[in-house]
Amino acid sequence: MRKELEETLAAKSIHPTAVRLIVLDYLTKQEVAVSLTDAEENIGTLDRITLYRTLKTFEEKGLVHSIAEGVKTKYALCGNSCGESGHHDTHIHFYCNRCKETICLPKSRIAEPSLPARFQAQEISLTVKGICNKCNSIALS
Ligand SMILES: [Zn+2]
Ligand SMILES: [Zn+2]
Ligand SMILES: [Zn+2]
Repeated sequence: MRKELEETLAAKSIHPTAVRLIVLDYLTKQEVAVSLTDAEENIGTLDRITLYRTLKTFEEKGLVHSIAEGVKTKYALCGNSCGESGHHDTHIHFYCNRCKETICLPKSRIAEPSLPARFQAQEISLTVKGICNKCNSIALS
């Protein structure tokens, strides 16, 4: 497991420190995007500033992308195409109104918008709000 984590970091040119391995291990186990507070509450051994810096480094290196959610920011792991040169996470994010979780939908791509002349897109994000698959299956059973 540790070797896999080290390889994941190496693939994004991130030096594997003990702290980074702990944070990556936590992120790989999550099915939903996490906030800094989520990380802080679940990784008891690291303080908030260390966690914040680690997530920022991961974001700069293309390992995680951030999802703005009102005043909160959540983080989720990126695909292979992201790197230091930029992010390519043009997938839809889903926010569940019931369980309040944010989920990456890598298979649901955001359609490229048509923009007027001389407007250049640098970032596209789309969050769909509704009821997630888990909450829906609870409602049905
Ligand atoms: Zn990314
Ligand atoms: Zn839900
Ligand atoms: Zn995502």
